[in-house]
Formats: sequence, C-alpha cells, structure tokens
Amino acid sequence: MACTCSEAYNFAAGPAMLPAEVRRQLAEQLGHAAAGGVPLLEQPFTGAGFRGLMEETEALLRNLLGIPDDYAVLFMQGGASAQFALLPLNLLAAGQGAAYVETGHWARKAFVEACRHAPVRRAASGAVTGYTSVPDPTDWRVPADAGYCHLTSNETGNGLQMQDFPQLPVPLVADMTSDLLTRPLAVERFGAIYASTQKNLGVAGLCLVIIRRELLRPPRPGLPSAFSYAVLAEQNSRFNTPPTLALYCANRMLRWVAERGGVTAMAALCRQRSRLLYDCIDASALYRCAVRPDQRSAVNVCFELRDRPLSAVFFGQAEAHGLHHLQGHSALGGVRASLYNAMPLEGVERLVDFMREFESRHG
Ligand SMILES: *Cc1c(COP(=O)(O)O)cnc(C)c1O
Repeated sequence: MACTCSEAYNFAAGPAMLPAEVRRQLAEQLGHAAAGGVPLLEQPFTGAGFRGLMEETEALLRNLLGIPDDYAVLFMQGGASAQFALLPLNLLAAGQGAAYVETGHWARKAFVEACRHAPVRRAASGAVTGYTSVPDPTDWRVPADAGYCHLTSNETGNGLQMQDFPQLPVPLVADMTSDLLTRPLAVERFGAIYASTQKNLGVAGLCLVIIRRELLRPPRPGLPSAFSYAVLAEQNSRFNTPPTLALYCANRMLRWVAERGGVTAMAALCRQRSRLLYDCIDASALYRCAVRPDQRSAVNVCFELRDRPLSAVFFGQAEAHGLHHLQGHSALGGVRASLYNAMPLEGVERLVDFMREFESRHG
C-alpha cells in the first residue's frame, strides 16, 4: 500500500526522530563552513571553538535541570550499555557491593552486566507482575554498606516509568536514557544520573553522566583512563577526542528545549501526547495496556492487540499511513509508540485516528 499522506512520523525508541529545526542545523553545519572559517566539526577539540561548544552544552544542561555546582557533567562514549559496567568499576571499592532494582528489560541488562564486575544484588524485582508495576520502595532490600542503589527511571521497552524516587541511606544511581529532559528533576536526590543521547538528545555516540563530585575516586587497576569518571571530570571530558558530531547535536537539542520553555513545558507536552494515546487504548476493545495506570510511561507507550495475529496487519497498515517503527522491543513484542520531546502532537493525533479506524474495520 502506498503512503497517501503528507507527512511521516517516526515512533522509533532510539535512535529517535530529531526536530526538523535541529535536522536543518545539522545539515547546515555539515554542508558548509561558517563565513571564511573552518567548520566547527573540523576544528581541534582543544581549540576555543569546540571548547566553547562543550561549555555552552554543559551550561544549557545545568540550567535546564538545575544541576548543583557540586555535580560534575561528563561527556562519554560507549552508550548507556558501557555505563552498566562503568558504574561498578568507578563507584565501588574493591569487594564492595551495590543494589539493583529490576523494573524491566533495561534494569535487568544493567544488573546482569554489573554482576560481571562486582558482588551486586537485586534489591527488588518486578518480574512477579510481568514488569507492569514498580516494586514498592518500602520493600526494597538495600544493604547499608551498598555503594549505591541503581534504578531505571523509565523502562523504554516495558512502558513503565517511576513517578517518584525514594530517599535511601545510599546514593541513588539512575539510568535516565529515555526520559531525561522530559520532566523536571531533583538532581540533588541522586548520586549519579546517566543517559545516552539518541533518544531525547540527538544522535548516538554520546552518553551524559551527571555525578556528585564526592563520589569520584581514582581509577582502580584495570579501568581504562578514558572511562574513569575522575579523569574525565578532571579534564573536562577532553582526556581524548570527544564525539564531536553527537555533542554538536546535543547542543542544538538543548537549545531547542530551552527555547520552548524547558523541562516544565516538555513535561506538559509529554502528558498531553501520552494521555491522548492511553485514552484511546483504554476506550478500545482491541488494544490493551497492561501497565499499572499511575506508572505508565509518558514517553514510551507500550500496548498490545488482544487479537495478537492481527499485529502484523496493524504494522503494515500503520506504515502505509506514514506511522513508522511502532513495533515493540524485539525481546518483548507488542506495539510501542515512543513519544520523545521531538514528537509533535499531530503525530499522536494521526496515530489515534489510524487506531480507531483500524479497530472499526478489524475489531
Ligand atoms: C536505549 C536504552 C539503553 C541503551 O543505550 P545504548 O546507548 O544503546 O547503550 C539503556 N537504558 C535505557 C533505559 C534505554 O532506553
């Protein structure tokens, strides 16, 4: 079936869609040099031009999230998945353990990788509910001598989002890859926060780490200097060449968010988009969302068709309507609509119209 519609919408979980304006800026940057000069991406990363870009990027992030001065902001490579190993290697003393809250696919990945490097333990698991709700924090088992407690603020594949964060006797460390900058955040409640940029902050290749300085410790034997939080903090993330293109893109994304009212405005739009879609699902006899209503993600809306074999038809026709990449995570199946900051409301309206029409024909 040919697409008869004017615009296509990309609901991919990541790499995710960029705002048209950021895409344009990227094309411009790659397309030609600034008048008479050398393009930013071809300048030495230690020179004034690129340093300026990094400093502005950090300042924008600090402003938007209200990051206190006693936190360092690091620009790293290797994605969030590298952080799964780098957290225990950087934050724990030899032999020290940490606690992990297993809320779904990504929390489990973080836990399994950490197990390779330190004696970490599950503090709680949502497996008993099929990861449709967050284990009650009063039931988390966090040893007093744990180096930190790890959590995943938004489970990108399960469609589950933590709404508040407990006060614990050990530092909270959070994977916020899929919901950083989609809502206001009390950074001072966390020891460390990390996020890959290909979801809400541009293209792949960069991972932000926001960390309380008192948690920095000299690299232990076996930890490459390029992946030491202390070394990167000391050298302003210029120990070696940073991912220049991804940094440029994150900078323009942060500007874009700031120009649109910051994280409070982003959160309001997030709620508006996701409510439209959840209301459609809840009013339907064909679609079903199993996640506990008050913990449903405002960013990754995960649901399924009660008539499972119909899913392939659903994806095919959605595609023909210009609604792309609605397949759920490959390990989990189902339908997933990722509604990051760049997704316009019209994209969700189009999806909801399509879903209603699809149900009236197939329901
Ligand atoms: C996408 C994602 C990751 C993986 O990020 P990579 O950059 O591919 O390593 C980790 N955690 C969460 C919550 C994610 O959404």
